[in-house]
Parts: sequence; structure tokens; C-alpha cells
Amino acid sequence: LRLAAIAESTGPGATADGHRVQLLANIGGPDDVAAAVANGAEGVGLYRTEFLYLDRVDEPTLEEQRHAYHQVSVAFPNGKVVVRTLDAGADKPLAFIPTAEEPNPALGERGLRLAHTHAQLLADQLEALGQVHENDPAELLVMAPMVADVDDAEFFTRAVRNAGLNQAGIMVEVPSAAIRARDLADIVDFFSIGTNDLAQYTYAADRQVGNLAAYQNPWQPALLDLIAMTARAAAEAEKPCGVCGEAASDPVLACVLVGLGVTSLSMSAPALPMVRAALARHDLAQCRAAAEAALGERDAEAANAAAKEALPALM
Ligand code: PEP
Ligand code: MG
Repeated sequence: LRLAAIAESTGPGATADGHRVQLLANIGGPDDVAAAVANGAEGVGLYRTEFLYLDRVDEPTLEEQRHAYHQVSVAFPNGKVVVRTLDAGADKPLAFIPTAEEPNPALGERGLRLAHTHAQLLADQLEALGQVHENDPAELLVMAPMVADVDDAEFFTRAVRNAGLNQAGIMVEVPSAAIRARDLADIVDFFSIGTNDLAQYTYAADRQVGNLAAYQNPWQPALLDLIAMTARAAAEAEKPCGVCGEAASDPVLACVLVGLGVTSLSMSAPALPMVRAALARHDLAQCRAAAEAALGERDAEAANAAAKEALPALM
């Protein structure tokens, strides 16, 4: 790939004609910040806070939480840090929360759903985040996992505002949220599309079952359609719409996502230079043409091939 030669490019993300696309890092905690900074991340697009809670016998204290959020926030004084509230459930069980055995953990009481039965967990987390937001320079945004409908979005947005935080977003990772994105866009401040779970739920294929991995391919046409719908609804409501699933780390698909109207891309840090280089080599019109070409195909392989053809600097 010729991109490798220019992957040293640094600076904020943009297409060749200067259309800005924030390039952000997915992190699991303060230990991942160094790699994010080294690869030129403009901020954090997905802070998976569950690692603070897993593998321990008690809930992290407010002080422990504040410390972790602060360490991440100070690393990006001029950037933004998007913190995802606890994403646990029967698939990622917590020792201090008795969860019933569920026949279908991916479809169960997980993500934001856990906050209905364990309200204090969310309240504590938002309190810690609110305090960090008050004192730190970074722009601190909070989003919820597993939001399915307007009730979920309203419940979360209210809780975030009550904690003194001013930016409440949602992961769009459940098909119902993508299909009715225009309703949700009126309620929340931003979207972040989680393509890993969105693929899992769209194709009814457990992402942990290796034999079903083909359904997890982010080039699948039904997934691209849902991303397009979500990005369009966000644009109409003038709200930002990022992607923080695996899809964002594929340089070709990153161009397609920008062409679909996605405004930021968040990925594991090592993927940032190649994505930055791919965007810098194409203008917005080419990204839109690639998106159009991909949407016109009927399977993942053809969508990928059509997009590549529309993005000459990747060939
Ligand atoms: C996703 O579902 O795409 C996502 C980014 O979140 P996670 O992989 O943590 O479920
Ligand atoms: Mg997810």
C-alpha cells in the first residue's frame, strides 16, 4: 500500500480539500493515553470505562474514578475526551452486582439498561465525571452504550445534565437507534456509531462466535445503510456523528464514512496514521463518490472493491 510511505503525516485530520474530520483514539484507561498522543490523536473518541469496574470485588470509589478520568483529560488540554459510561452486563459481569444468568447476554440487561436497576452506579459515575469536567481544561463529553429508543436517550440526557455535564451523546449500536436516528438526534448532543455491536445486532450474529465472523465485516451493505441513515439524521439536526467501532480503522472505509457524512473517527491508536494519510490523499467529493459506489453494491466484497476504485490514491 503506497499509503505506508506517507503514513508519517501528522496534524489534525482532514481531506485533501481541507474538510475537517477529527481523528480520535479508543482507549481503555490512562495506560493507553501515551500511544494515543504518540500517534497524533486529537483527543479520545471512546473511553471504555468498564475496565475500571471489571476484575475487582467492589465498585471503584469516586476518588478512584476522578483520578482515572483526570489523567485522561489532562493529556488532551485542547482536545475532546468522550467518556462512555459503564458498558457491563451478563457478557461482562461485575463482581459487586449480582446479575442473573441470561440465556442471551448480548440481548440482556447490559449497558445503559443496567442503570435502571442499579441507578446509583450511573449516578456515581456521572458525579465523578461532573467534578472532573468542572476542574479540567479538556472538553469532556459523556455517552451511553446500548441506547435503543427515545426513552433511553431522554433518561440518559437528563442524568448527564443533572450531574452538571453539558454534552450528552449516545452510541448508535442497536438497529432501532439507527432506524429512528432522527428522533434521537433531537434529544442528544452527538452520536457515536458503534459498528461492532451494530453489525452484531443487525445480522443477529453473536460477535463472540468465531464461526459467524463474516457477519461482523463492516462493509456489509445493511450496516452501511444504517450508518448512512444515522449520519444523515445527525446532519439534518446539525449534530456531530462519529464512528468508534472497528470500521473507523480501515483507511478505505474511513474515506467512505466521511463520504457518508461522519464527522469524526475514533480507533485504536496504531491505526491513526494510515487513516490520516488516506483522508489527506482524497477530497470530499471522492469520499462521497466512494460512499455512493459502496452503497450501490450487494455484498461486502463488492462494496469494498467499488470504494477502492473511487479512491485512486489507495490503489
Ligand atoms: C462497538 O460496539 O462498536 C463499540 C465501539 O463498542 P464495544 O466494542 O466496546 O462494544
Ligand atoms: Mg458496543
